[in-house]
Amino acid sequence: MTHSGHILIVEDEAVTRTTLAGYFDKAGYRVTEVEDGAALWSALEAGPADLILLDIELPGEDGLSLLRQLRQTSEVAVIMVTGKTDDIDRILGLELGAHDYVTKPFNTRELLARAKNLIRLTRQVRESGTKASTRTFDGWVFNKNSRRLTSPRGEDVPLTRGEFDLLSALLSNPGRVLTRDSLLDHVSHRDWDPNDRTIDVLVGRLRRKIESDPKQPRFLVTVHGLGYVFTSNSREPA
Ligand code: CA
Repeated sequence: MTHSGHILIVEDEAVTRTTLAGYFDKAGYRVTEVEDGAALWSALEAGPADLILLDIELPGEDGLSLLRQLRQTSEVAVIMVTGKTDDIDRILGLELGAHDYVTKPFNTRELLARAKNLIRLTRQVRESGTKASTRTFDGWVFNKNSRRLTSPRGEDVPLTRGEFDLLSALLSNPGRVLTRDSLLDHVSHRDWDPNDRTIDVLVGRLRRKIESDPKQPRFLVTVHGLGYVFTSNSREPA
């Protein structure tokens, strides 16, 4: 079952907290309720949140101070919640990196709409970052940032550094013939002599990892006298 997201409510007033929790729960969110900063940190250790509703006036460390600490390591969506109509807190909260701000008593329907939008936006930003570094071909997923190659069956396929560099260069130029020389430029040739065979050896190794029949490659094709071409429609995931 999929939730619309995980919402972490940091609020010391039980009635407000329970009301908020009930409302978001009913709207299909997974909700965690905590009443102070210490509980916030333990909740985040247990798992990430898609949105934090952060009360400003809390016992112990206040919401602004918690937000400041949070922003040192996390870009999680935050809506500050306060009882005061004071502009100073609002401005400070936004400057410290809150995405939005609501004043009690708030309209729960409006808060839900804002929360929904914010979760959608932050997800888009996160996914576009992942998308830019990901290529897929025929069920395979190659992620440049995490340096992972995953087979259509979902298995991790370990790549040596040379194999990774080579595949990365080929996938960035789908359908284009790359000469051995230009491929050598992409491969960090730390461990071997920069001779032509290097690329051929790496291509052979890669084929054994990604081709169902390495002797009749479908993806990594030899163009005689020129070099190699990656023939699948490698693309950014839709
Ligand atoms: Ca409070």
